[in-house]
Amino acid sequence: MLKTIYKKIADILMRPFRKHFLFLIAFFILATGPFFLWQFFYQHLLVNGFLLTVHCFIISYVITLLIGLIKPDKLRKVIQGILLLIAAISFAINFYCIFELGYLLDADLARLMIGTDLNETREFASAMIPKWMIPALLGIYLVFVGVWALSRKHPLNLGKITSRLAMCGLLLCLWVNARSWKVWEEGPIHRIYEMTQYEVTDDLTAYYTHPKITFNEDNQLPTDVVLIIGESFSRSHSSLYGYDKDTNPCLRAYCDSSLVFTFDSIDAPAPTTAESIRLMLSTYSQVDEEHPSGKKWFEFTTIIELMQDCGYDSYWFGNQARGSKKNGATRVFAEACQQRKFLQHEGADRFNVTTDMVLVDSSYQYVHDAKPEELHFIIYHMMGSHFDYAMRYPKEFARFSEKDYASQPESHRATLAAYDNSILYNDYVIGQIIDLYKDRDAVVIYLPDHGQVIFRDPKDPDYFSHGKKKNPFSYALGVEIPFIIYASPLYQKRHPLIMQRIRERQGELTSWNSDELPYLILDLIGVKEVGGETIQTKSMLH
Ligand SMILES: [Zn+2]
Repeated sequence: MLKTIYKKIADILMRPFRKHFLFLIAFFILATGPFFLWQFFYQHLLVNGFLLTVHCFIISYVITLLIGLIKPDKLRKVIQGILLLIAAISFAINFYCIFELGYLLDADLARLMIGTDLNETREFASAMIPKWMIPALLGIYLVFVGVWALSRKHPLNLGKITSRLAMCGLLLCLWVNARSWKVWEEGPIHRIYEMTQYEVTDDLTAYYTHPKITFNEDNQLPTDVVLIIGESFSRSHSSLYGYDKDTNPCLRAYCDSSLVFTFDSIDAPAPTTAESIRLMLSTYSQVDEEHPSGKKWFEFTTIIELMQDCGYDSYWFGNQARGSKKNGATRVFAEACQQRKFLQHEGADRFNVTTDMVLVDSSYQYVHDAKPEELHFIIYHMMGSHFDYAMRYPKEFARFSEKDYASQPESHRATLAAYDNSILYNDYVIGQIIDLYKDRDAVVIYLPDHGQVIFRDPKDPDYFSHGKKKNPFSYALGVEIPFIIYASPLYQKRHPLIMQRIRERQGELTSWNSDELPYLILDLIGVKEVGGETIQTKSMLH
C-alpha cells in the first residue's frame, strides 16, 4: 500500500522530466532565462547568476508540474501553449530591455509602457529597436519551433535513469535555493509581485485634505502662476548653461533683460516622465519613495489642490497624449484641474504629431479673457524633446545639421542635430508662452520632467535616451535639467521681497531636487505655512 502511494507520488514528481520536458526547458529559457542571463552577461555576477539560475529552474519545474496535473490533455496543451506565448513575448521585451536599456522589465518600465500611448509605442518601436534584434529573436523562436516539430515524432523526454538523476539535481537545487532564498528578490516572481504593488487612482480630488494655509504678512497673491513642464531637456544642451551651440537664444534675451533667472545644479527626481511628474506635482518625495510609510503617493497633497485652496483657477494644457487611466500620473493631475485641454490628437500617426506651438495658440484666448482680479494657475505640458527628436520641430527650426558636429562620431551626428533643433524650437515656444503673460502680474516656471543621456556615458557611448535607473552614472546624466523662472515686470514691482531672494539665489545654488517643486511655487506666491509646515525651508530660494 505505502509502496504504491510512494510510487504514485514519485511518478507525479517525475512527470516534468518524463512527460513535459520540452515545456519545462522552453519555459525555463523563455520565461525565466532573461533574469539569470542578465546577471551573467550584463552584470557579470557569476555567483548571483548561478543562484538565480537555480531559483528559476525550481520555478519552472513547479509550474510544469502543476500544469501537468491539468486534465483533459487537450486543455492542458492549450494552457501550455498560452503560457509559452506569454513567455515568448516577455522574452522579447526583456531581450530588448537588456541589450538596449541595460536592465530588465521592471515596475517603472511597465508603468512607462502603460503611460505612453500607441503612437509613442509605435515611434519607439520604429526608431529604437536595432535592426539586428528582430532577426535574432526570430532565430531564437525558430529553434524552439524546430525542436517542437521534431519532438512530435521523437518526444523529447528523459528516460527512467536520467529523470532520476534530474530529480537528484532538483533536490540539490532546492537545497542551494533554501540557503540563498534572498535571491528571489531578483527573480521573476518578485518582479511580478512588485508590478502588482503599484497602485493608481483616477481621481486625486478624492484624497484632498485641505490643510490650513497661512500667508506672509501683507501678502499680495500674483494673478498668474504658470508652470511649464518640458520633456527630455538635458541641461548639457542648453546655451544658458554653457553649451557651445546657441540653443536658447530667446531665453538668453530674457535673461539679459533681467526677466528670466536660471538656476544651476538642479536634478529631476526620476529619469522617466510619469514617475518624475508624480514626484514634482505633489508633496510626495524621493524620501517617501525610499522609506514608504504606507501612505500611497496619491494620498499626498498635490500642488493643484494647494493652489485651488489659495483661490487659483487651475487649467492644464497638455500636448502629450492623454494616456490611459492607469498611466500613473500625468492624466490624473490634468483631471484634478478645474479645466483641461489635451491637444495631441488621439490616434494620430507618427508623421502627424502636433508640435508645441499648439499650446500657445490654444491658451491665447484663455489668457486674453482672464480677468486680472482673478487668480490663475496654468500648467503647460509640452512634448518638448520627446524622442523621436526630429519630429518635435517644424522645418524652419532645422538650423543645426550633421556638418555642425564634425568632431562627433558619424553615427551620432544626425541625432545630435535633431536634438539641438528640438531644443531650439522648445526655446522659441517657451518664449511665446512667456509673451502671453508679459503684461500681467505673472511668474512662469519652466523645467523639464528629466533630461537625456545624449551619448555622454563613456561605457555606453552610443546610448542617448533616458538615464538608466540601475546605472548611477547614466542615471545622474539623465536627471540633469535646466531650471528657469520668469518674473514679469509687474510681478517684479509688486513682489520685491521674493524678487530679492530670486536674485540672490540665482547662480549660487548648490543642489536641489525638483521633487520639492510645490514648495517653490507656494513660496513664489507668498505662502508661509501649509498644515503647520514652513514652506521656505524646502523652497530652493531658502
Ligand atoms: Zn519624459
